[in-house]
Amino acid sequence: MARYVTGKMRRKGLAFMAVQTPEKSTGASVSLGPAAALSCRECGERFPLGPIFACEACFGPLEIAYNLPTGDPEGLRKQIEAGPKNIWRYAPLLPVPADVASKPSTNPGYTQLVKADRLARELGVTGSLHIKDDSGNPTHSFKDRVVAIAVEAARAFGFTTLSCSSTGNLAGAVGAAAARAGFRSCVFIPHDLEQGKVVMAAVYGGELVGIEGNYDDVNRFCSELIGDPLGEGWGFVNVNLRPYYGEGSKTLAYEICEQLGWELPDQLVIPIASGSQLTKIDKGLKELIALGLVEDKPYRIFGAQAAGCSPVSRAFQEGHDVVRPVKPDTIAKSLAIGNPADGPYVLDIARRTGGAVDDVDDAQIVDAIKLLARTEGIFAETAGGVTVGVTRKLIEKGLLDPSLTTVVLNTGDGLKTLDAVAPTTGPTATIRPSLDAFRDAGLG
Ligand SMILES: *Cc1c(COP(=O)(O)O)cnc(C)c1O
Repeated sequence: MARYVTGKMRRKGLAFMAVQTPEKSTGASVSLGPAAALSCRECGERFPLGPIFACEACFGPLEIAYNLPTGDPEGLRKQIEAGPKNIWRYAPLLPVPADVASKPSTNPGYTQLVKADRLARELGVTGSLHIKDDSGNPTHSFKDRVVAIAVEAARAFGFTTLSCSSTGNLAGAVGAAAARAGFRSCVFIPHDLEQGKVVMAAVYGGELVGIEGNYDDVNRFCSELIGDPLGEGWGFVNVNLRPYYGEGSKTLAYEICEQLGWELPDQLVIPIASGSQLTKIDKGLKELIALGLVEDKPYRIFGAQAAGCSPVSRAFQEGHDVVRPVKPDTIAKSLAIGNPADGPYVLDIARRTGGAVDDVDDAQIVDAIKLLARTEGIFAETAGGVTVGVTRKLIEKGLLDPSLTTVVLNTGDGLKTLDAVAPTTGPTATIRPSLDAFRDAGLG
């Protein structure tokens, strides 16, 4: 039994971070396509590929280091364009085995990039405005992307159970991917999520556990479970498989650029929960530049939060490097992480690229959901209300340039958060089935 725990971690009292893996993975070196090693984002120390997520030396987060296919950008572009219409077209840039497309997977990605001209007019955008609509994924949120990559890592490390701590969408994505790929699943959510999220997390037949607490409590619980024999052989997609999981978000960057004709957008507006997605989109854009797949030019990254859970936005406004945890209270439950692991990296990226981080309140989120629906026919979940609402606010503040090319992410489907809009949305009239009644209602 391999136990990925070191003396140093024990001395620091971090033994709970110990990760146990099944017999299968011990000794054998794991091959995950172009992934070369894990490397620490803080001190650069490198480790062999394994189900670990924190640096032994400094406890910084680990991420994947690659041997990327440089040298023939034209050939690589052709290979990608000939690939399947899902994230596996980017397999040469992901930590997955070369034959990944032939394995059972939910095959997420290649979602629509919608040119949003009517929304642009309402917002006073004179450049081009696009919605990257990830509600089109198999379980109707962007989380299918990250889970698909984590599943390949779980297979490689010999895990048989998939798990996660979730704000809702991740639980559904793990349930579906586990069912499809033949894993057992046991996922953890805060007990008070929207019905759409709960039902979706349960319907695929895995175990679903509601925890009496908020997401940060759920996450802490999962960290304890990982170090306990109870969690032996479990791959937690966003904990011990987090370095792999995170890479799934790069596919959003790849797709956006490919769909813009292999060009970088000028500005992106991205929602923040833990901040992983935002940091990995930046990583994906930098890779495309390094590989010569897009021409290098400046881009700005904007982060979006709900006012009721805005620790990163607050740190940005106040000019701090430290993100002070908050207790979430917002209808944007998918983004309700009070202590975001990647918060400081988000601040770095927003500042380095000339972007910003901002937030909108619950009423503004609902307004923005309806605005997007009535202008573009896209029904977003609350997270999409957050990005569209923040886009409007950033334009009003003069922080987002309306004359440039802007991509706004919608990361989930409005059908999962009906409660947010139901109180202010419904039939125009309810009438008897007669023309008189229709006329009397003032319609027609
Ligand atoms: C999880 C999630 C995000 C972003 O999460 P990060 O933890 O910041 O990567 C965004 N939108 C939706 C709908 C989500 O479920």
